[in-house]
Amino acid sequence: MRATLIGWDEARLRRSVSSCDDRSTSDGIERIADLLKGWGRCQRNDQACERCVLWGDGCGARFASTNSPAYPMRVVLCEAYPTSFAITHPGTPILRNFSMQIARTVFREDHEMFRATVRRFIERECAPRQDEWDEAGRVDREVWLKAGREGLLGAILPEEYGGGGGDFGHAAVMAEEIARANVSGPGFQVHSDIIAPYIARVGNEQQKRKWLPGACSGELILAIAMTEPGTGSDLKSIRTTAVKDGDEYVINGSKTFISNGLNADIIIVVCKTAANAGAKGMSLIVVEADRAGFRRGRKLKKVGQHAQDTAELFFDNVRVPTSNLLGEEGMGFRYLMGELPQERFSIAVSAAARLESALDHTIAYVKERKAFGQTVWDFQNTKFKLADIKAQAVAVRLMVDHYLAEHMRRGLTLQESAIAKLFATESLGKALDEMVQLHGGYGYMLEYPIARSFVDMRVTRIYGGTSEVMRDLISRQL
Ligand SMILES: Cc1cc2nc3c(=O)[nH]c(=O)nc-3n(C[C@H](O)[C@H](O)[C@H](O)COP(=O)(O)OP(=O)(O)OC[C@H]3O[C@@H](n4cnc5c(N)ncnc54)[C@H](O)[C@@H]3O)c2cc1C
Repeated sequence: MRATLIGWDEARLRRSVSSCDDRSTSDGIERIADLLKGWGRCQRNDQACERCVLWGDGCGARFASTNSPAYPMRVVLCEAYPTSFAITHPGTPILRNFSMQIARTVFREDHEMFRATVRRFIERECAPRQDEWDEAGRVDREVWLKAGREGLLGAILPEEYGGGGGDFGHAAVMAEEIARANVSGPGFQVHSDIIAPYIARVGNEQQKRKWLPGACSGELILAIAMTEPGTGSDLKSIRTTAVKDGDEYVINGSKTFISNGLNADIIIVVCKTAANAGAKGMSLIVVEADRAGFRRGRKLKKVGQHAQDTAELFFDNVRVPTSNLLGEEGMGFRYLMGELPQERFSIAVSAAARLESALDHTIAYVKERKAFGQTVWDFQNTKFKLADIKAQAVAVRLMVDHYLAEHMRRGLTLQESAIAKLFATESLGKALDEMVQLHGGYGYMLEYPIARSFVDMRVTRIYGGTSEVMRDLISRQL
C-alpha cells in the first residue's frame, strides 16, 4: 500500500536511512527516527486511519519500529532490507509485519513501546551470548537480574508486587520478540507468564509478598514441576506425594523435563495430598530449592533449545511448611486447568512469530542462493512451497491475533487455547521441515536460523500438552 506523502522528500528519506551504518538494530532505527524528526505529515492525518502505514516496498522482510512522543511520526524500518521503511502516526495501530501484509490491531502504543525495550534487550544481552549459553547448557543468573532491572520479568503481574501491571499483550510482545530473534535459553516466558500467575492468582497475600517481588527482579527464578518419569500427559497419574506432618508437608517423588530446573530458586510442585482421590487429591506446593532433601538431577541433553536448563528434580523427604500450599488442598488439578490455557496460548504466540521470521529468512535465502544458473527462488517448486507456507502463516497470524484479543478481554477456554496451540505449532512444524529443505545442506547447519528453529521449535508440539492431547480436548466439545 502506497499513500501520498505531503512535504516528504523521498530521496532525502532514503539517503538518511542509507547513511545510517547501524540500520539493523533498534539503536540504529532510533537514530534514523532522529534524522527524520519533524518531517512531513500523513495526508490522511485528519481521518481515523487505522492502517496508516504510508510507505513500504513490500520486500517480504521483518520490520522494526521505534516510537516516542518526541517524534511526530513513527519510523518502521525493514531489518533485512534496510532501505525499506514505513512511516506511521503514533497512537494508531501499526502494520508491523509487512511480509504478512496484515494490519495488526491488537496491540496498543504501550505494547509497542514495551516491544522496543524488549527488542533492544534481546539484541544487547541475549543474541550475542547464545553460543556461549548453548555450550554451557544454561543461561547465567546475570541475564535474569538484568531483565528484572529493565522491567521485562513479570510484565503482566500487578505493580504492587513489583510487576509491570500489563495485560497479556505485553506477554505476547515478549514471546514474539524472543521467537523472532531466534533466541533460546532464558526461560522468561515460562517464569513470567506461566508460573508466576499461579502465585498471583491462587496464592494468598503473604505468599504474593514473599515470592512475586523476587520473581519480578530476577532474584527468584521459578519452575513448575508437573511431569514425572512415569507420566506426563496423564497428569492425574502423578506419584509424587505430600503428606501432612504437623504444620509441615513431607514431599517424596521425582519430576523430569522441568524447564528452568537447574536455575530455579522456587519450584511449584504438583503433588498428591490424598491417595486414590484422582484429580481431587492433587495440590500445588511451593518448594524452595535450599530445602533439605531436594536435589537436582542431570541437565537433560535435548534435540534443541540447548541453552534452556531442562532438568530432573528429586524430592526425598523434603519438609516445607503448610503455609507453602498454594490455594486449597485438593484443588491443584482445577488450578492447573485454569492456567493451562494461557500456557498453551503463549506457545501458540511464539509459534506464529517464529513461522513468520522463518519464512522471511527463507525468502531472503532462496533469492540469494544460486543453482543451475538461477536462484533457488526461480524454481517454480520453491515459489509454490513458499506460497503454501505464506498462506498457512497468514491463517495462523489471523487466528492467533483473534485469540490474543479475546484472551486480553476475557481469558481463553481450554478448547480455544488447544485450537490455537494445535494449529500454530503443527503449521510451524510442517513449514519448518519444508523450509529446511529449501536451504539444502545449510538448512542442517545450526548457524543458520532455519536450522535453529527446526530443532528448537519441535518441542512446541509436545510440551504444554501434546498435539494429540490438544485434539482430544477439542474433540470433547464437538
Ligand atoms: C523441553 C521440554 C520442557 C518441558 N518443560 C516442562 C516443565 O517445565 N514442567 C513440566 O511439568 N513438564 C515439562 N515438560 C514435559 C511435557 O509437558 C511433557 O513431555 C508432555 O506433556 C508429554 O508428556 P510425556 O512426555 O510423558 O509423553 P506421554 O504422555 O508419555 O505421551 C507419549 C505419546 O502418547 C500420546 N498420548 C498421550 N495421551 C494421549 C491421549 N489421551 N490420546 C492420544 N495420544 C495420547 C502423546 O501425544 C505422545 O505422542 C517439558 C518437556 C520438554 C520436552
